[in-house]
Amino acid sequence: KESVMEGIKDEDELLEETLEQSAASSMSLKLQDDRKTLPIYKYRDDLLKAVDEHQVLVIVGETGSGKTTQIPQYLHEAGYTQRAKIGCTQRARVAAMSVAARVSQEMGVKLGHEFHSDSCYRNHILLVGYSIRFEDCTSDKTIIKYMTDGMLLREFLSEPDLANYSVVMVDEAHERTLSTDILFGLVKDIARFRKDLKLLISSATLDAEKFSDYFDGAPIFKIPGRRFPVDIHFTTAPEADYLDAAIVTVLQIHVTQSPGDILVFFTGQEEIEAADEILKHRTRGLANARRARKVVLATNIAETSLTIDGIKYVIDPGFCKIKSYNPRTGMESLLINPISKASAMQRAGRAGRTGPGKCFRLYTAYNYQHDLEDNTVPEIQRTNLANVVLTLKSLGINDLALELLFALSALNSRGELTKVGRRMAEFPLDPMLSKMIVASDKYKCSEEIISIAAMLSIGNSIFYRPKDKQVHADNARMNFHTGNVGDHLALLKVYESWRETDFSTQWCYENYIQVRSMKRARDIRDQLEGLLERVEIERTSNPNEADAIKKAITSGFFYHTAKLQKTGAYRTVKNPQTVHIHPSSGLAQVLPRWVVYHEMVLTTKEYMRQVTEIKPDWLVEIAPHYYQMKDVEDDGSKKMPRGQGRASAGPGSIEEAAAAAAHR
Ligand code: ADP
Ligand code: MG
Repeated sequence: KESVMEGIKDEDELLEETLEQSAASSMSLKLQDDRKTLPIYKYRDDLLKAVDEHQVLVIVGETGSGKTTQIPQYLHEAGYTQRAKIGCTQRARVAAMSVAARVSQEMGVKLGHEFHSDSCYRNHILLVGYSIRFEDCTSDKTIIKYMTDGMLLREFLSEPDLANYSVVMVDEAHERTLSTDILFGLVKDIARFRKDLKLLISSATLDAEKFSDYFDGAPIFKIPGRRFPVDIHFTTAPEADYLDAAIVTVLQIHVTQSPGDILVFFTGQEEIEAADEILKHRTRGLANARRARKVVLATNIAETSLTIDGIKYVIDPGFCKIKSYNPRTGMESLLINPISKASAMQRAGRAGRTGPGKCFRLYTAYNYQHDLEDNTVPEIQRTNLANVVLTLKSLGINDLALELLFALSALNSRGELTKVGRRMAEFPLDPMLSKMIVASDKYKCSEEIISIAAMLSIGNSIFYRPKDKQVHADNARMNFHTGNVGDHLALLKVYESWRETDFSTQWCYENYIQVRSMKRARDIRDQLEGLLERVEIERTSNPNEADAIKKAITSGFFYHTAKLQKTGAYRTVKNPQTVHIHPSSGLAQVLPRWVVYHEMVLTTKEYMRQVTEIKPDWLVEIAPHYYQMKDVEDDGSKKMPRGQGRASAGPGSIEEAAAAAAHR
């Protein structure tokens, strides 16, 4: 090799290597010896005793102590697999596969397959497998099964009492993924009527009390760690570009520090690929003078899920990708966020597993102290709960009050999940937005609708209005409202126009549009486009059929319908309430008779924001279970002509109308 770096590996490569190794090898004595050196080994018998005595056990042990790979094997050796299998959840697909590969190797069986050896294992056919979405590497002979937490959730569908399992180990509980949190509820419930089921909750962090509390005071089994000191270095000033800083640090470590492998934490695949490119480029010229060292580029999966041996240096840029939910727009997105102190500690810990190590944090000590949260907020607190409800529904949990989901036809009158609901559940969005997208299939305008959904998710940070150029800015904005198309179609026009300029920044400046917001909208749109395919919605475009697009919008938002009153104010149709069109709306001066709105904001009064005009008979056509003709008839004689509405609605008239309404 020309490069002094032995090789820069990403997660996939590591995984491939493990799989190859495991396929090639039979049980080696060396592996059996290695098992005995793990911290957990000394506690094997105590652990088995505790499992025997308690139905639920919380297990705490540092990353790399052997929880994931050893506990299922110990239980197997103790006979827990005679009647049924052991299931162990992981948070990530790659972790489930890698750990299964390792365990099959340790046990001398071929992953997922029978071991056709003539040797001493003839009577010892064992099976270790894994199950992740789109890939089931198990058979009916599998006795130790690693799987993502999401897959175990799905198993509840076909097997609500998990009768095929004698032990369920909810591993990496500290990660608090959404699926794990839901699993807690489900397994706790099962454990009550399946007294023979053993439940293990394992965690890499010490604050396991809350798990114990949740499981009615289940005992906590601690595996004392073995950790060497790790020197922590902070930068003296914040880094402008952490990717670049990470690469410089890798090269500095390589040149100035003693032998030992380097682990770098990035937020995702794109970053890993970019860093990989640059590193390969920059190390190409280096002379082969020094000892080779390995550089592992990983996501935060290397924090606690995967143990990589031989790491002496950790580089922690301080960021990770995290799902966040904006309850105002109902939109979930994956954003790059600062990590928590707990994560930073875990990352540093990766450097001290086999000897003293060093951790280079690419942020300042001040940042660490003042800006990082203590712990990462559990996913369930930053996710769209409507979606959780759909998941629970699809798991057959029925006693939930779900009027909106019923109205959207996601549930039928018996409260069961419908086909529409199943498709909606795939979108990480508020149900009304998901419904709008699912409905766009019918109206042949999915391309337009996902653009609108993406733009809606940005909230009101699209247009800006500099103090000295307000008139210009307002004119630019009103250009998108030509023909009083309504706010949704105006948003679409903004997006389309930007796309036509090939996503030009200059164009954004000229139109008083925030380029950052637009880029976010584009990212979200890309995500939604991928999901269309997953739920088999064809990508169709119907740009000149405004009514088709509006009908798709109405299919999601008919719940948000309002009707103009004689006073000039609006009244919501269901649960009547007086509301107004937000002054920023393109329809604020137009006052159409019937509108649907995206959201309600309360400032000085209740305002509907992002408003589109509809025809009332659409409501009956689109949501016949929800609207009848009598709901949408214009109270007989006293129709107010459109022109009159407009005439009375000059600036300030909204206030007057509201005052009038208040005095009635
Ligand atoms: P824990 O779950 O407590 O973090 P693990 O059981 O995952 O610990 O790992 C125990 C040890 O097994 C690790 O220190 C590592 O040496 C070894 N190991 C685990 N997975 C693999 C793998 N895929 N390839 C090689 N070694 C592994
Ligand atoms: Mg583990």
